[in-house]
Amino acid sequence: MPRKPFAKQPSIGAKHRASGATLIFYYTRENRHSFNALAGALEKAGIPGLNLSFPETEKKLIAEIAKSLTARRITAAGFSFFTSQVPHMERLAAYLKNKFGDRLRLIAGGPHPSGAPKEVLKMGFDHVTAGDGEKTIIDLAQGLINRRRPDKKIIIPRKTEDLDSYPPFSLKWGKFGPIEITRGCPFGCSYCQTSYLFGCKPRHRSAANILSIVELMKSEELCDIRVVTPDAFAYGSKNGKEICPGKIEELLKGARKILKTEGRIFFGSFPSEVRPDHVTKETLDLTRRYADNKRLVIGAQSGSPKMLAAIRRGHTVEDIYNAVSLALRSGFGADVDFILGLPGERETDAEMTLRAMEDLVRLGARIHAHAFMPLPGTPFADRAPARLSERTVGRLRNLVARGHAFGQWEKQRKLAKKIHG
Ligand code: SF4
Repeated sequence: MPRKPFAKQPSIGAKHRASGATLIFYYTRENRHSFNALAGALEKAGIPGLNLSFPETEKKLIAEIAKSLTARRITAAGFSFFTSQVPHMERLAAYLKNKFGDRLRLIAGGPHPSGAPKEVLKMGFDHVTAGDGEKTIIDLAQGLINRRRPDKKIIIPRKTEDLDSYPPFSLKWGKFGPIEITRGCPFGCSYCQTSYLFGCKPRHRSAANILSIVELMKSEELCDIRVVTPDAFAYGSKNGKEICPGKIEELLKGARKILKTEGRIFFGSFPSEVRPDHVTKETLDLTRRYADNKRLVIGAQSGSPKMLAAIRRGHTVEDIYNAVSLALRSGFGADVDFILGLPGERETDAEMTLRAMEDLVRLGARIHAHAFMPLPGTPFADRAPARLSERTVGRLRNLVARGHAFGQWEKQRKLAKKIHG
């Protein structure tokens, strides 16, 4: 029997039912997946007297805070953000502190706060949570109800979560989204936060648990199933390095059986991706047989063997070409991620990356272009981005202009310069 994801635990703090508290999540497009998971954890905990709200704009956020404080409820606002959102969050935190003072508690979590908690406290937040957020948000919410502040300003959970212990989103608050099927990654690429924030051991949500969630979604007439994972083709793999087609099949076949012809399954496409060394005939056949996506997102990152080794990708340039050719031959479109401006990248490395991009475009792929941004908590946190020559920028712009490449690389380039001074 699949486990029920939304089964309630015994109520917490029933004697404090009367006090009442409101936790307001600033529910932006970039961060909604994190809040869906936190809302799911809070729903499962079933804390009496706790209200949640999810304003999507600054104006609504401020109005919600004012309403809650006027009603004399204990009020906290939660923010989850990426490094690219730091200037916005810094300005917003200062504004809210100035307007509402200490009556409002500001809590930050997510990728940037987890990697740079001290810096985020200085931005005006009262508490910063790092890593897995489920247990922490339950403790914080219980503390709000009990009018008790946490002892520590920086909260780091003692242990990592078992994904099966919490639903990926909340039925009660109607916050649905992709199902997180794996957390953590063994590769530890030098520019990426995943392994450093969530660990090197992949933690997979069990197929039984995922399928029970698919059943529930179907009963709510939510029949588009998307997944969040560092590498969809590593689903079920104990070490995350060797693929496990049997586990992928158990998952996809089970989901297809539940959805029948009514729904769509997206696997290895946005918001997740696949590593090139895991694109094989077997993984592609399974995706084609059971899933509905017509495109795959493949993480390549560089066309220079020297840079692939420097960033610890653990695959070769040849793997990239093989993966894209195989995917295209199997009838998938391919969106291939590349990063330019990696620390230590020389003109010759950038040239190799551009050549790989142009080759893959000729084969029929589309390029998702990124510019390196130093992210806190990673080995490259303090490394300066390499300068992109005018020739490199021109060739990349040319690919974009011809519709062969897309992405936020120009914006990221500017932001990286700002971050690194
Ligand atoms: S870039 Fe991908 S493979 Fe590398 S550590 Fe991050 S999630 Fe893992």
